[in-house]
Amino acid sequence: MTEQRAGRLWVVATPIGNLDDLGARAQETLKRVALIAAEDTRHSAPLLARYGISTRLVALHEHNERDEAERLVARMRDGAEIALISDAGTPLVSDPGFRLVRAARAAGIAVSPVPGACAAIAALSVAGLPSDRFVFEGFLPSKASARRDRLAELAAETRTLVFYESSHRVRDCLDDMVAAFGATRPAVLARELTKLFETVLDGDLATLVARVAADPNQERGEFVLLVGGRPDDEDARLAEGRRVFALLRDELPPARAAKLAAAITGAARKALYVSE
Ligand code: SAM
Repeated sequence: MTEQRAGRLWVVATPIGNLDDLGARAQETLKRVALIAAEDTRHSAPLLARYGISTRLVALHEHNERDEAERLVARMRDGAEIALISDAGTPLVSDPGFRLVRAARAAGIAVSPVPGACAAIAALSVAGLPSDRFVFEGFLPSKASARRDRLAELAAETRTLVFYESSHRVRDCLDDMVAAFGATRPAVLARELTKLFETVLDGDLATLVARVAADPNQERGEFVLLVGGRPDDEDARLAEGRRVFALLRDELPPARAAKLAAAITGAARKALYVSE
């Protein structure tokens, strides 16, 4: 009985720039629901007005999400269908909504996505970097020391790295990436996607630093910064490991030589010391 009366939470993606990117199902859902929980009601008003959506809005942002989530869950328990939107793209992706979704699920309320734009995925789809595996890092810490520490932790990551970045930090961030990952790492700076001044710069990190320094416009707007993962240098390590093993093998028992060669070069010990 309660099951039948329960409402539903629709997590609806909105455009990341081009307002035409609101799909038919998103429009229909936003028109039909009893209430739209929006990150910033003033920000969403023009989008909703464009599609003739007059559903009542309630603000749900990081400062009130805890309390508001309880109220919204109570409404859905009473049968209301509610939509969650953020300022741009997919809610919960570097945006509020996690607490509401968790509370709704905990209360046994169905939560359904109405998928659409997401800046990280849009950027990945045009970057030309390996996309079979990737790591979404969201925003780096704003303090320089914390940012550098985080980048150092990511230096060995072999999957493509995806970051969100704001305009006033993009240059510092690129400089720190050169220091942490090396100047030759492939990278892509995807700026203002789906908007009038969309640009997608690619090259290695050093090239991107130079291109942004040469054109101040490249520092304006919204960015997704993608960096290729650490190249798979397994083959180079193995070759070096075998060379060192061969040298040590003349002086030491094979097991000991393999252990040392592996420790020195980072090659897998088993791959060096196979047949002896
Ligand atoms: N929920 C959103 C999504 O699905 O992409 C992201 C919200 S997050 C607060 C905003 C950040 O996303 C911006 O600072 C920027 O890094 C990135 N972003 C959003 N729109 C973008 C666009 N049109 N082009 C490039 N990056 C964008």
